[in-house]
Amino acid sequence: MKIAVYPGSFDPMTYGHLDIVARAAAVFDRVVFAVLVNPRKSAPIFPTDVRLAVIREAVDECCPPEVSARIDVESFDGLTVDFCRKRGAKFVVRGLRAISDFESELQMAHSNRKLDPEVDTVFFMTSVENSYLSSSLVKEIANFRGDVTQMVPPAVARRLAARGPSL
Ligand code: ADP
Repeated sequence: MKIAVYPGSFDPMTYGHLDIVARAAAVFDRVVFAVLVNPRKSAPIFPTDVRLAVIREAVDECCPPEVSARIDVESFDGLTVDFCRKRGAKFVVRGLRAISDFESELQMAHSNRKLDPEVDTVFFMTSVENSYLSSSLVKEIANFRGDVTQMVPPAVARRLAARGPSL
């Protein structure tokens, strides 16, 4: 069985992430949406448990049942390759939006292969309509109570709207 891990912060998840995971699910038998518990990134918009719940809800709501049944949503900390080993995954999925993503993604893919030569990284190019999207952009707009409904799945938009007035 071909298992892939799609690691990231997903704070919050966007249509860009959803598109990548759905396309990865067409290639791999199982894809694990792996939410990094990242102590270096301060002030997350959602704590890890909320991020996990929102991603699960969004995947179930937006993907056909046979696709969402093959997508797991889990959190991890530490090295991606260690999580891959734990999950029996030989592939890491990442998305590329622009040349600016390429440099750091290349470095990360090389490092991961040094750490574990059995784990390879597979890149999916962003869909044109999502190429401008990033979690930090959504976070900034949402913090000013702007409309992000074209940028994030409904489950994420609902959870953003449900936040209290304090930012
Ligand atoms: P990280 O914190 O590791 O940068 P993100 O949650 O921002 O993680 O993104 C996870 C992965 O999804 C990265 O490979 C990133 O390039 C990709 N990604 C983010 N936004 C998009 C998008 N709009 N289209 C395609 N891929 C994207």
